[in-house]
Amino acid sequence: MSAASLRGLRRGIGRMIHWLAPAECLLCRAPHGNTRAICADCEAGLSRNTHSCHRCALPQLPDALCRDCKHAPPHFETTHAPYLMRTGIRDLIHQWKFQNRPHLSALLALLFSEATSLGADCSMRWGASLTPTLLVPVPTQWRRQVQRGFDHTWVLAQALKSQHYPGLIVRPWVRNRRHRPAQHSLDRATRWQDANDRFAANRKLAGHRVILVDDVMTTGATVRAAARVCREAGAQSVDVWCLARTPTPTTAR
Ligand SMILES: [Zn+2]
Ligand SMILES: [Zn+2]
Repeated sequence: MSAASLRGLRRGIGRMIHWLAPAECLLCRAPHGNTRAICADCEAGLSRNTHSCHRCALPQLPDALCRDCKHAPPHFETTHAPYLMRTGIRDLIHQWKFQNRPHLSALLALLFSEATSLGADCSMRWGASLTPTLLVPVPTQWRRQVQRGFDHTWVLAQALKSQHYPGLIVRPWVRNRRHRPAQHSLDRATRWQDANDRFAANRKLAGHRVILVDDVMTTGATVRAAARVCREAGAQSVDVWCLARTPTPTTAR
């Protein structure tokens, strides 16, 4: 039996199991016939980040550069963050990260790829480029990985590559240098200061296009710091992919 036939058979069996015993939605707990882990209503209700800064994906109206990107441009060119960090995607990310459910990476990678306009063109364009494009996970400090049970940005980058962007190459070439308090426990000013000397990048990045992969962008301090060390290591360009963007209080809608 060919690989395509085998995949078709697996899909058919999966649909039959769902029909016989509907799954429970991870978000609303209702039984549903969707082949995904969340029901169609919950999926349609995820808050999309549709009008945002071209560079850092901060939600705002109208589309343009935000004040931070105008006054202190980051070392990355663009950010794709298709969801707002609100109920729905926030609950999924919390279950994934804090309840040790690495298998949800597949669903999150699917939601990312469907919600962005990158699609197959991304891997074709970058995959065919003479300059290799790397998916580089923004690293978490190793103690947090041990507490969590897995390295969430690494598994997310792997899911993005294997399921949607086969032309890209995953490389863990940015390192988190020291133990610090978790970012979500710091206030905004402390995050900026803390992120400045947090990362080190491998010189192997030189000459490559880099896409930093993270789950959530909050102040942007973390990816700004990671992008800076990538450029200092010789990366040709840096872009950012993350699942969700946290609006600042002034832009919250
Ligand atoms: Zn639901
Ligand atoms: Zn911006």
